[in-house]
Amino acid sequence: MTNRSILAASNSSSHSRLPASRDTSKSSSPLTVASQLTTARATLWDPKYTHKEPPQLRLQPTHVGTLTTGNRTDSNISVRSLGGGQKVDSMDKRHPSSFQQLEKLGEGTYATVFKGRNGQTGQFVALKEIHLDSEEGTPSTAIREISLMKELKHENIVSLYDVIHTENKLMLVFEYMDKDLKKYMDSYQNPNGGNRGALDAPTIKSFMWQLLRGIAFCHENRVLHRDLKPQNLLINAQGQLKLGDFGLARAFGIPVNTFSNEVVTLWYRAPDVLLGSRTYNTSIDIWSAGCIMAEMFTGRPLFPGTTNEDQLLKIFRLMGTPSERSWPGISSFPEYKQTWPVYATQELRAILPQVDSLGLQLLGQLLQLRPEMRCSAQQALAHPWFAELNARSQQAAQGGFTQQVQGMTVGQQRAY
Ligand code: ADP
Ligand code: MG
Repeated sequence: MTNRSILAASNSSSHSRLPASRDTSKSSSPLTVASQLTTARATLWDPKYTHKEPPQLRLQPTHVGTLTTGNRTDSNISVRSLGGGQKVDSMDKRHPSSFQQLEKLGEGTYATVFKGRNGQTGQFVALKEIHLDSEEGTPSTAIREISLMKELKHENIVSLYDVIHTENKLMLVFEYMDKDLKKYMDSYQNPNGGNRGALDAPTIKSFMWQLLRGIAFCHENRVLHRDLKPQNLLINAQGQLKLGDFGLARAFGIPVNTFSNEVVTLWYRAPDVLLGSRTYNTSIDIWSAGCIMAEMFTGRPLFPGTTNEDQLLKIFRLMGTPSERSWPGISSFPEYKQTWPVYATQELRAILPQVDSLGLQLLGQLLQLRPEMRCSAQQALAHPWFAELNARSQQAAQGGFTQQVQGMTVGQQRAY
């Protein structure tokens, strides 16, 4: 959906106070886009999609200013506080009005991410720059991301501190993380040898536990991530893992059949989505989590498909080709083909001999072809594979140090 159609759609909703996007994006006020953002939540929390009440907190950009683009590798971004001198909100304390822009951290689908330093506190941040197209206004992905991230506060979800709107850019200020999981795996030296990129067992368990906690929190709040992959999971020096990049996420509810079926990067995409299902739900994130778990053990993507069809066949080669008998209703999916080669189901342990038997049992519950057979994030967290971590977390909660548990379980912090 284009930004324009999102805005247009929201105009008809009862919560909407959004003006027509084309007119506003051309108007002269530098706060035009910012004012759209303050109402973007209404789009996401449209009663058509969710029964949950919109949260009370209103999204307020806290600064406006100009971004110096002359020297992009080390430029200063000067901003002045909004609100005519009065205190905007408590975020002002964390985010005084200047960030030094440091090296580029990554480039994604619609944004460039830089490391930044808060001029006053010296604290590092990640600055996600989204280029604003004056014709289209704020990209709908950015609106989704901002609206969702402002609401989702959890230790396994990357914190969005601030939203800065400059003349032609929207900048999201996130908590700084050392690297994404892809880079972490690429640079990892396993002390016990093993495949390049493969992590050690305690680290994998800790990362999976944290990943599932982040997912469970999203799902409890009716948010699907829809693009879980190693590049979108961020790791800090304390061994904490946090979900990032909510560009494709969306608050969900009933009905769900209006979702576009072009989501989730191919390799981590659930078979029901590949088959053309438009009524997918939380189980698509669980499939991705299973793919990520296998990849952490081997250092290689589990299903590196090149096209929709190839992706499905790579999955079937391991999980077996489904039929009406094993998956009633499969022949009515848009992408169903009678001509698929018939593969037998393989044992997971045959291709993942490095995984212990409890781990294989959990993986089997995450990687179920049929979405309704996949376990939920909560169920996965209750699996005996996590018994020790859960016990430790409970103890820590009683003693008041939850934060420490996540880091303690990662054996490889010396990698930094
Ligand atoms: P996109 O939506 O364009 O894919 P992402 O949010 O995924 O953008 O960011 C792109 C890359 O930038 C990530 O894969 C990661 O390497 C890096 N990155 C993003 N956020 C952070 C952060 N908070 N700290 C450190 N690096 C980050
Ligand atoms: Mg990304």
